[in-house]
Amino acid sequence: MTEDVLKKLQILAESAKYDVSCASSGTSRSHRAGMTGSAAGWGICHSFAEDGRCISLLKIMLTNYCQYDCAYCINRVSNDIPRATLSVRELVELTMEFYRRNYIEGLFLSSGVVRNPDYTMERLVRVAKDLRTVHRFNGYIHLKSIPGASRELVDEAGRYADRLSVNIEIPNEASLKLLAPDKDFQQVFTPMRYIQQGVLQQAEERKRFRHAPRFAPAGQSTQMIVGATADTDRDILRLSSALYRRPTMKRVYYSGYIHVNTYDTRLPAVRQVPLVRENRLYQADWLLRFYSFQVEEIVDDATPNLDLEIDPKLAWALRHPEVFPVDVNRADYEQLLRVPGIGVKSAKMIIVSRRFAPLTSEQLKKIGVVMKKARYFITCRELPFQTIHELSPLGVRKLLTSRKRDDGRQLTIPFGE
Ligand code: SF4
Repeated sequence: MTEDVLKKLQILAESAKYDVSCASSGTSRSHRAGMTGSAAGWGICHSFAEDGRCISLLKIMLTNYCQYDCAYCINRVSNDIPRATLSVRELVELTMEFYRRNYIEGLFLSSGVVRNPDYTMERLVRVAKDLRTVHRFNGYIHLKSIPGASRELVDEAGRYADRLSVNIEIPNEASLKLLAPDKDFQQVFTPMRYIQQGVLQQAEERKRFRHAPRFAPAGQSTQMIVGATADTDRDILRLSSALYRRPTMKRVYYSGYIHVNTYDTRLPAVRQVPLVRENRLYQADWLLRFYSFQVEEIVDDATPNLDLEIDPKLAWALRHPEVFPVDVNRADYEQLLRVPGIGVKSAKMIIVSRRFAPLTSEQLKKIGVVMKKARYFITCRELPFQTIHELSPLGVRKLLTSRKRDDGRQLTIPFGE
């Protein structure tokens, strides 16, 4: 690698680090003879910065020049920062070199907007195309789709990338207009629609022709910035829930706002949104996807923001004492899922295990139920514990939060289990 490319790499990797929508899950293509790499099980290498942010080793921008002026972005045109652009060839060679040395498991590629969305998108697609067709690269590729790019280019991107993503960034049209006046809220959803149509169409074709080419097999994802505007957690989760109803949306990522442009008075003065808010949003997102919760059950008019002290499932349980205690030896799967301390895996295990004999608290522990939490919400074979009814929701809350404080782990309490 030349000095020049190394310098560009430093600048562009630094510019890309604020984008968190980079997990490489969702694809299972394994190694094939005559090809380089595999996307099975790994994908992009992740590391974690001190602040807990996920950073990929080759998470990079093609260029950090950008003609737009989004208030929350380090790469906005009005910022005086070092700029660089990699040529398509340089980026392809870099990826192959890093891949062969085992530094990375794939590529996460985004870009600032230069000239126009089509010009930028075309260059992103060329990187993926060269990797796949010239270098026979079989590793994971995640491409950013540029809002406003034409359908043909999005379709072409889907043929080479494992996952495509379009960042929503701001969950509401008025706030986006204020902070990113060059962007059009509706335009963000257009490429999402193209991707969805491409994936569904390809699924139909593969039913008829086994070897029909794949289209973004790992689906699409998006990212929202949390805390840059006054939008509540309810606004954010409502949008996430609507997105998850689309069949190809795999993940919504929440990125706590970082005050990179301190001079911009449109932005809140906080230096950084507490990581715990990001964490609570991920937990609520989990409830929407795997626990059959509706947004209005998690956040409503009275509580539009998530409780930062306790996880959203526990918060829901404390608001609904009438549902508890649940008898673990009789309750159905859906009821078990609502118990704090019982996760998807343990609920399934309970259903299977109790066929043989009624379960005791010792057995529940072995199954993986977090009894220090669940005990207030369940009964089992032994005499009932002191439940939420004897202790009151406030009493249970105090017991659980004081224990967390004693442990000194209140910001990292595991969820669901
Ligand atoms: S378009 Fe993207 S890269 Fe450009 S300023 Fe906005 S957020 Fe930053």
